[in-house]
Amino acid sequence: MPNIAFVNGRFMPLAQARVSVEDRGFQFGDGIYELIRTYGGRVFHIEDHLRRLEQSAEALGLSMVYSKSRWKAILEKAHGRSGYPDAKLYIQITRGAAPRDHSFPKKTRPSVIITVRKLTPLSDQLHEKGASVITVPDLRWGRCDIKSVNLLPNIMAREKARSAGAFEALFVRDGLVLEGAGSNVFAVIQGRIVTPPNGPFILSGITRDLAIGLAREARDPVIEKGIPLEELLGAEEVFLTGTTTEILPIVKVDGKPIGDGRPGRTTRRLYQQFLQTIRP
Ligand code: PMP
Repeated sequence: MPNIAFVNGRFMPLAQARVSVEDRGFQFGDGIYELIRTYGGRVFHIEDHLRRLEQSAEALGLSMVYSKSRWKAILEKAHGRSGYPDAKLYIQITRGAAPRDHSFPKKTRPSVIITVRKLTPLSDQLHEKGASVITVPDLRWGRCDIKSVNLLPNIMAREKARSAGAFEALFVRDGLVLEGAGSNVFAVIQGRIVTPPNGPFILSGITRDLAIGLAREARDPVIEKGIPLEELLGAEEVFLTGTTTEILPIVKVDGKPIGDGRPGRTTRRLYQQFLQTIRP
């Protein structure tokens, strides 16, 4: 089965998908996105992703173009056409093509793009052994809660992590660890699960919410508060959450071991709980 694209109402093989060079997503990064994954043929938390897409659209005065039920039908169809049981559904809405001018064009049709690709899950070994991360200064803007396609600071941070042999880069602003370039961060500090609060400096992760729910189900207290870098370095456990990252133990931050340098008990238990939720 080929990788699939959907561009402004039409399905086609991904290799044939095109947008205008005057598209404002291309020219200005004037657009938003979502990445949804499927597990064994089922689209994971589609409602939550569509709600977040709508919040991003509202924040930037963009139209969702389709109703929620239409979005769902299109996404299911796109996924069905690809035939991949485990797929990444990428959605992007931009303000559309218009002569280049910073202010919003009076009349333009938003561009709606969906691509479907096969998802390669993270290895079991990474989950068993845990991953390492680096920290970087947060160079992003003041609305990180909007899932905008402007990702330069994120890609630069991720590139730095990759060249350091690390899985992820964590952004630090005013001494506080906020989130990863493409994931949310949690720590277990003095027996309590801590994660930075939602607000303008993090993306409200869908897996983050899920992890908080799972922790509370197991009667583990979760505290939403800023995590100073020194506290993270001294934590018993650190883990990341994200659509493709799932719940991933972190065993090293900036080359320093976390806890005993192995995935912690709470993280491992949360991951097992998470796996239960994705099994049909
Ligand atoms: N923060 C950032 C900056 C991200 O890009 C992502 C990935 N979408 C996340 C957090 C995790 O969010 P989610 O669990 O919804 O994938």
